[in-house]
Amino acid sequence: MNTTPISNRLHIAIFGRRNAGKSSLINALTGQQIAVVSNVPGTTTDPVYKTMELLPIGPVVIIDTAGLDDSGDLGNLRIEKAHEVLRKSNIAILVISATEGITEFEKDFAAMLKKREIPLVGVINKCDIKDVLQSDVMEYSKILGIPFVKTSAGTGEGIDSVKNLIIDNAKYDKSEISLIGDLIKPGDTVVLVTPIDKSAPKGRLILPQQQTIRDIIDNDAIAIVTKEHELKHTLDNLKVKPSLVITDSQAFLKVSADTPSDVPLTSFSILFARQKGDLAELVKGIKKIQELKQGSKVLIVEGCTHHRQADDIGKVKIPRWIRQICGYDINFEWASGAHFPKDINGYDLIVHCGGCMINRKEMQFRIESSKESNVFITNYGVLIAYTHGILNRALKPFPSAALILEED
Ligand code: SF4
Repeated sequence: MNTTPISNRLHIAIFGRRNAGKSSLINALTGQQIAVVSNVPGTTTDPVYKTMELLPIGPVVIIDTAGLDDSGDLGNLRIEKAHEVLRKSNIAILVISATEGITEFEKDFAAMLKKREIPLVGVINKCDIKDVLQSDVMEYSKILGIPFVKTSAGTGEGIDSVKNLIIDNAKYDKSEISLIGDLIKPGDTVVLVTPIDKSAPKGRLILPQQQTIRDIIDNDAIAIVTKEHELKHTLDNLKVKPSLVITDSQAFLKVSADTPSDVPLTSFSILFARQKGDLAELVKGIKKIQELKQGSKVLIVEGCTHHRQADDIGKVKIPRWIRQICGYDINFEWASGAHFPKDINGYDLIVHCGGCMINRKEMQFRIESSKESNVFITNYGVLIAYTHGILNRALKPFPSAALILEED
C-alpha cells in the first residue's frame, strides 16, 4: 500500500519474438529475478508486471509480454493479451536476438507502432553469443527507423544504455498527475466524504481517496476526511468555508443536501473521469440515456476485478438506476479488468467505472474506441449524479463539461 499505484507509473512494455531474451532483459533492467527465464520458446504466458524507480522519470512499471510470434489457440490468446498491454504502453522496447536478426515480423511491428504513435526503441540482445558491431547497430536502426542499442542481458552489458534509451524516448503525459491542482490553491481546505460501509476495505481507504488526499497535500492545501453522517457537523465547525467538497458518488444525495449551495461539490469518480479520460465526452454519453429503448444493450465496464457485494454498484445498482430512468427493460453485459471488448458496435451505451486502477492511455483508448464505433460512453460518477438530479451541481467546478450538459 506504500508504493505508487501501477496506474500512475510510466508503462514500459517489452515485446519481441519468442526466446529473444525479453524475460532476461527485464530481470537485468530491474536487477531482480522476477520473470521466468528459460531456453524453451514461449515460456511467458500472461504479461508479467514489475515496478521500479527509473530516475529521472520516477516510478515505472516494466511489462514482460508473451512472444508475438506465438502460435496455436493458446498462442493467439497470449498475443491478444500482449496487444492489450500495447494500449497502455508509454513506450515499447523491441527485443531482437543477435543470433536471429530482423525479420518481417519486426518490420511489421515497428510499422504498427509508428502508425499508433507509440514510441519504440530497439535492443539487440545476446551480444555475448554473437558479436555485434556498431555498424550493425546502425544498420538495424536504419531498417526499422528506431534507435537501437546492443546488450547482453546475461552479462549485463548495455543495460544502462537501454535505460537511457527509455529515458530519452518515453512519452509521458505529465498533465495526468494532478487530480485537483487547478481547482485549489495553497492553504485551501478540501473536505472529503468517504462512507465506510460494508463494501469498504478493512483498515484502509480506497485508492481514489488516498490519491486525492495525496494530491491535496502536494498542492499545499488541507484535507479533512469525514463520513457522510458527520459532514454537517464538520462543516459547521470550520471557521472558513471549504473550497471544495469531494464525495464518494454513492453518498451524493445526502452530501449535496448537507453542503451549502455556495460550496463547490463534486465526486471522486468525476475527478478521475477528468484526469484519466475526457469528462466532456462522458457527459455527452449520459445524455444518451434518455434515448435507450426496450431491449437496448448497455455494457458496464470496471477497470479491475473485485469481489462483488450483494448490492454491488456495477452488477445491481447501476442497472437498477438505468432501468428506473428510462423505464425499459435493458440488456446489460459486463467487462472488467484489462478486458475491453474488441467489438463494441452492438452496444447503445457504455458505462465505465472511475478507472482508478487503469492508466490514462488505456482509459483514453476506451473512450476513443467508443467514439470510433459511434457508441456513447459515460461513467459511474456522472451517471449517479445524473440519477440523483445533481449533475449540474457536480459539474460546476468544470465549466466546459457543464456547458455540454446544457447543449441541446
Ligand atoms: S472498479 Fe474502477 S473505480 Fe473501482 S476500484 Fe476498480 S478500477 Fe477503481
